[in-house]
Amino acid sequence: MYSNSKPSLFTWTGTLKECANPSMAAQSRASMAVPSSSGLEVLLKTLQNAGDVENTLNILNVLDELLSAGTDRRIHYMISKGGSEALLMALVNTSRSYSPNYTLLLPILHLLAKVGHRDRKIGVKAEKAEAVLVTLGLLRHNLKNSRRAAACLWVIRVYCSSVSTATVLGQNRALDDVFNLIVPPSAAQKTRTVKAAVDAFAALLSSKENCRMAVGKGYISGLLKLYEEWHMHDSENQHLPICQALLHCLHRATNTSLGRSALVTDGGIGLLYRTTQTCLSNKAAECLVEPAVQLMRKCYPKIPLPLPSDCSVFSFPLPGRPVDAWEDDPGAHYASFEDDSDEEQENEEPDCRDFEDDLESDVSRLTTRPEPDRPREQLQQYSELCPELQHDFQDLDSDSEPEESSDDESLLNGDSEEKINGRKRSRVNSMNSLSAPDPETLNSHGMNLDQDGRKYLKAQDFRRLSCPKSPEEGHSSMVDKLLEKYGAFIPHHDPRLYIDAAAHTKSIANYSILAFPDFWGHLPPRGPEPMAVRKPHVQRKKVFEDVQRLLCPEDIINKVVFDMEDGSLECTSDSTTDSLRFFSKFESGNLRKAIHIRRYEYDLILNADVNSSSHHQWFYFEVSGMVADVPYRFNVINCEKSNSQFNYGMQPVLYSVREALEGRPHWVRAGTEICYYRNHFCPSRGQRGQSFYTLTFTVTFRHEEDVCYLAYHYPYTYSALQSHLQVLERSVDPRKVFFRQQTLCNTLTGNACPLITITACPPSRAWRHLHQLRNRPYVVLTARVHPGESNASWVMRGSLEFLCSSDPVAESLREAFILKIIPMLNPDGVIHGNHRCSLSADDLNRQWLKPNPDLSPTIYHAKGFLYYLNSIGRTPMVFCDYHGHSRKKNVFLYGCSVKETLWQSGSPVNTASIKEDPGYRTIAKTLDRIAPAFSFNSCNFLVEKSRASTARVVVWREMGVLRSYTMESTYNGCDQGIYKGLQTGTQELEETGQNFCQSLLALRKNTINYNSRLLSHAAAILDLDSGLLDHKSHKNQHVVH
Ligand SMILES: [Zn+2]
Repeated sequence: MYSNSKPSLFTWTGTLKECANPSMAAQSRASMAVPSSSGLEVLLKTLQNAGDVENTLNILNVLDELLSAGTDRRIHYMISKGGSEALLMALVNTSRSYSPNYTLLLPILHLLAKVGHRDRKIGVKAEKAEAVLVTLGLLRHNLKNSRRAAACLWVIRVYCSSVSTATVLGQNRALDDVFNLIVPPSAAQKTRTVKAAVDAFAALLSSKENCRMAVGKGYISGLLKLYEEWHMHDSENQHLPICQALLHCLHRATNTSLGRSALVTDGGIGLLYRTTQTCLSNKAAECLVEPAVQLMRKCYPKIPLPLPSDCSVFSFPLPGRPVDAWEDDPGAHYASFEDDSDEEQENEEPDCRDFEDDLESDVSRLTTRPEPDRPREQLQQYSELCPELQHDFQDLDSDSEPEESSDDESLLNGDSEEKINGRKRSRVNSMNSLSAPDPETLNSHGMNLDQDGRKYLKAQDFRRLSCPKSPEEGHSSMVDKLLEKYGAFIPHHDPRLYIDAAAHTKSIANYSILAFPDFWGHLPPRGPEPMAVRKPHVQRKKVFEDVQRLLCPEDIINKVVFDMEDGSLECTSDSTTDSLRFFSKFESGNLRKAIHIRRYEYDLILNADVNSSSHHQWFYFEVSGMVADVPYRFNVINCEKSNSQFNYGMQPVLYSVREALEGRPHWVRAGTEICYYRNHFCPSRGQRGQSFYTLTFTVTFRHEEDVCYLAYHYPYTYSALQSHLQVLERSVDPRKVFFRQQTLCNTLTGNACPLITITACPPSRAWRHLHQLRNRPYVVLTARVHPGESNASWVMRGSLEFLCSSDPVAESLREAFILKIIPMLNPDGVIHGNHRCSLSADDLNRQWLKPNPDLSPTIYHAKGFLYYLNSIGRTPMVFCDYHGHSRKKNVFLYGCSVKETLWQSGSPVNTASIKEDPGYRTIAKTLDRIAPAFSFNSCNFLVEKSRASTARVVVWREMGVLRSYTMESTYNGCDQGIYKGLQTGTQELEETGQNFCQSLLALRKNTINYNSRLLSHAAAILDLDSGLLDHKSHKNQHVVH
């Protein structure tokens, strides 16, 4: 390349074997007398010592040949042998002579650029060799010689891989020299040199100091102009690399806030927007679009959310804490959402190292049980919560033998229930509310009976259907008319019971209005709901629309159409405006503010968790006043998580009142153009550069003037739970099923936290039957500690319904276990539309180590109850806490295993000496067999330090429950099994709850009474014949778990 005489006999084996040039070979041979030095080292040494020109040129040729033929490995080998230093030295020596010999300098510079590109320390080495300013000097001498200038620029660029070297160059005015070489296309002779200059300029900007200097000298404006010119003169896409490199410069220059505001002031956003629009139709120019879009997003000025305060609209005085204590330091609350998810790391790909560090590797902490957090005397209070242990079953004939036949009809015959005291009372209550709703109750709490409520209802579409015509007409009649006309046909749901339950639900806002879907009920839609297919460039399209807000502010309506804190807006939102109407002042609703942006576009702001200023992710609100068949864009602009399944096929859910009244009461997955991305909003007080994320989706409503509800996931309110429990209690045959609803404790707002007991009544009062009952192992199930995880409630609903059913497996389970169920550990959070916390702004699933009885009563007493079972020698056989998972697909379990944790953590402890019952895997393996949504591969049984205060770990460690689990259900759908590619519906969630219970049977394989009816239902669960009922046969059964 540099000389005509090419060495031909060279072979690369890591050392130099032979050399074609006799004089060099002689020289090399002389040096090779030192046995340890390789041929390459000899070459490099000769190079540094600057022999005669011809020799040096030969060596450079050899090196170039070497490197151009080979892979990076050769370059790294050369670097390890001091190649960079040798080249730098040669550069310095050659350039210092009176008239530098460019025959030598050019190949040296070329090689340096090549080697330096792979040498991370090249900058430091260059500084040490005093080559940095030498190279800059060479550049200055050759500004007019584009070939030489380009060679210098390449080397300067590699020097800048070290920020300190870049800074040194900047301090010596390198920015000016390099910038002057970036000329517009009209003046450019050699585009290669311009490209080298742009690249070198970008490299110089790796130093913040240089960035500041560049901004100060107005280079941002210069770069923008150059970009526009090169872009305009690029009809044949020849200059794309220069345009790309200029965008790269701008990216670097805008790494400082000064740089970003300079770009905005210099009209950069508009320029980038315009130039990008012309790229969209040009496939080749595609490579400019993404960096330009990212640049616009990055520089988009931060806009504080239009809120008077980031704090939740709701505050609640906490026992022992001043009311506004949490408002003083909002920053303290921001720290908490970084570890927001339950069982996962917040980062998309958690650092392996961090993950291992998080594993508990202290054997004693894994194997010894800590002291209880309270004195034993305090546990006696929980004995009441085990009525099954004291109950005398007087209503059973002590002489009768168990009846074999099923007599399900008896539950329709009301006489028998009345013999059981507790049941009788609740039955009478609910019968009352069914036959004649108490008008007083309805007036104060029920559906829309107060003054505001009436106005509100009037605005709704279903007023035409059966809303009271006159104010005198009671609301109960409206409900009656609705039900009469449209019928209530949803299994296990009774709208009147719902009203009754809601009337007793206490809330800070004193909710008096019901969301229609909760009241009316939901049936899963018939067909499957595939994950949404994401169209290419959706995010880009949305960002362009967002950028237009900045460029054409006059097009933005920017009108607040709903504000949780301003009731007057609801009154004015009549049909004279063409805005949508929003509402969320109902249980689990949490829309704080809606802003009309463009004709068919709205920004939505979610309320923070009560007593907190963060945790916005869950949403549930009503929207009405729509025009049919028009796509409306909704932007939830204050989401907090850094990524979401909304980017991977998940859709929000929608419920239409019109559809419901036409016989389709479905929450359905809805929305197109769904995208989740970081936006330009920041907290209203502008804290610490925190960013928010936008969830955007577009909904085209089917009906004119419908009333619709939109939610993050299928809502499930506290009142829904309460009414469901009542329905369930009525559905069971009290002679066969022992079903008790008790109150574990009251929540901070005074709502009861229910505890359910389900087991089989003994066949008779014979001692052996009572003895069998009282010795059944316990299973404790809990759910909904995180209010935003409504999927957990649907899973629990499936468990409860199954356990109360006449399915033979359910019967066997009731005979085999006493099930204790706390279906909602965080009622207050659910009621107030929280996403993560309780009213004390605590994540209740981080309170189990030392729960505070005043602030976290449900956790304190749930733990107390478990301690009690422990203290009477009835430690549960299984504990499971149901959760929802926002970033993974499928359903899976987290459990606890000492051995697996030690193995994974790389602990040197010899686990062979540790005894561990492998039974902790049985349920997961059974679920993998029987539950279509379940994925064993997503399970793990590791004990993490960061989870030390979760229910799963505390119940395992402190109560000694071997099978202590968190069961996670996706918000999205499955990527395996028969539901692959489908979004999860309530039916699948309920099925999961049923499957979990079914899997419990596998634990009692050896003790249950087998009969043919059971066998036909339980074969798969018990793995009796895996081929028979295996609906997962397409799964690889041979995976070793
Ligand atoms: Zn959770």
